Amino acid sequence: MQNSLSRLKEIGKEIKLLEHAMALLGWDQETYMPPKAVEERSEQLSLLQTILHRKATTTEIGDLLGELGVSEDNPEGDASLGTLDRAYVRVCFRDYTKNTKLPTELVSKLARQTSIAQSVWAEAREKSDFSRFAPHLEELLVLIKEKAECLGYEDHPYDALLDEFEPGMLTRRVKEIFDRVREELAPVIEQIASQPNVDDSILYRTYPLTLQRQFGEVVLEDMGYSMERGRLDVSAHPFTTSLGRDDVRLTTRYSEDYFNTGIFGTIHEGGHGLYELGFAEEIKENILADATSLGIHESQSRIWENIIGRSYSFWSHYFPLLQHYFPETLADVSLDQFYRAINKVEPSFIRVEADEVTYNMHIILRFELELALITGELAVDELPGAWRSLSEQLLGIRPEKDSEGVLQDIHWSMGGVGYFPTYALGNLYSAQFYSAIREQLDDYEEIISSGDLQKVLFWLREKIHRHGRVYTAEKLCEQVTGEPLDPGYFVRYIKDKYSGIYDV
Ligand code: MG
Repeated sequence: MQNSLSRLKEIGKEIKLLEHAMALLGWDQETYMPPKAVEERSEQLSLLQTILHRKATTTEIGDLLGELGVSEDNPEGDASLGTLDRAYVRVCFRDYTKNTKLPTELVSKLARQTSIAQSVWAEAREKSDFSRFAPHLEELLVLIKEKAECLGYEDHPYDALLDEFEPGMLTRRVKEIFDRVREELAPVIEQIASQPNVDDSILYRTYPLTLQRQFGEVVLEDMGYSMERGRLDVSAHPFTTSLGRDDVRLTTRYSEDYFNTGIFGTIHEGGHGLYELGFAEEIKENILADATSLGIHESQSRIWENIIGRSYSFWSHYFPLLQHYFPETLADVSLDQFYRAINKVEPSFIRVEADEVTYNMHIILRFELELALITGELAVDELPGAWRSLSEQLLGIRPEKDSEGVLQDIHWSMGGVGYFPTYALGNLYSAQFYSAIREQLDDYEEIISSGDLQKVLFWLREKIHRHGRVYTAEKLCEQVTGEPLDPGYFVRYIKDKYSGIYDV
């Protein structure tokens, strides 16, 4: 049995190595690659993808899992295996089953369609013309529904899609959670909208890019992100990618005349990066060294970006330093004024620019539309109209341009139906983890206001990062906080924080 396990781990390690090599090509493409290289780069990536798929679906894996006693009824395999090995075979079985359930033909059709759809989407967004993208989305949805059928589900086809990004999460549970968030936050948003708003014009002054970068690097270092095991570069859309167990890179983007973009992008990606750098030594080299779900991944970026990075305690430490970096720009600004500015709440069209109070409404909107598309209740050509009216209901504003509505996100063109809910789940998890941190670190406020951020990192590492995929998101949440995911924590966090800024 030990032989089967070692062989299985050998294959798993090769899969990881291939994934990291592909990540390097992808990272390069988004950062430094000359534009003319794009054609061969996509050939390189698609060849590696084929090799990876072949490796991940070889019947040898199925045979080895069988030898280890793994089956649908017994996904953790033989009882004599140790805890980590049982987690290893469970995850391996999950990946293998998923990979083999999808016919190769469907996988390559999806790859072809999404690559075309992405470039059409970019054009359509540019021209703000949904009708260009519509036929491609329609074709993609046919394939996505077929994919859901191949993967299988018990209750709802959307479950199969959701499970890719948030293993084990069910549509009806997301519905229940989102209904509660909507019910509790809609009145808060309305109350805020009816008040005179915060003046955030100080954020639109001039902030020289090199100084923004230097300041961001100081914060990253304080958080515990080390340039010895990573890099920070610039890309059109910020992201984090693992190129190796000691090479997790971040990107951000800067705007000279809007402060929030650079720093909060940096802190957000820093949170993602620290998760990927924090897997325990025992699992670092294998397939357990990955996020257990995208919701948990996002919780790690959001806890740093919003809960810590937009808190008063945090800026009571960093604002004097920020003034030192931008002495002229911020000479006449008080900490209080700055804190209120970075926490301004205002319903907006674009999800990625949304504040933490309204952000989840953007997700609820997409979730409801995705469900209606998958069940066939909504036709593709009705989508822009449905978007507008739902936006009016959830956010109180109605986008007239498709580029500010239905065409704003890349996800659907990439076939990523089922992805959006993980962003909101991440916000909810982050608030629940935050509550546990405050309970367990009794000098939490002092820690943050003295810039001793690595004490928080240490907690996150021990409780969350080191485990990788050893526990499912659900189990991890219970283990860390003593309860399953409860949106009440997020609602309380929002009400507590924003009652200090608005009358709510
Ligand atoms: Mg993120």
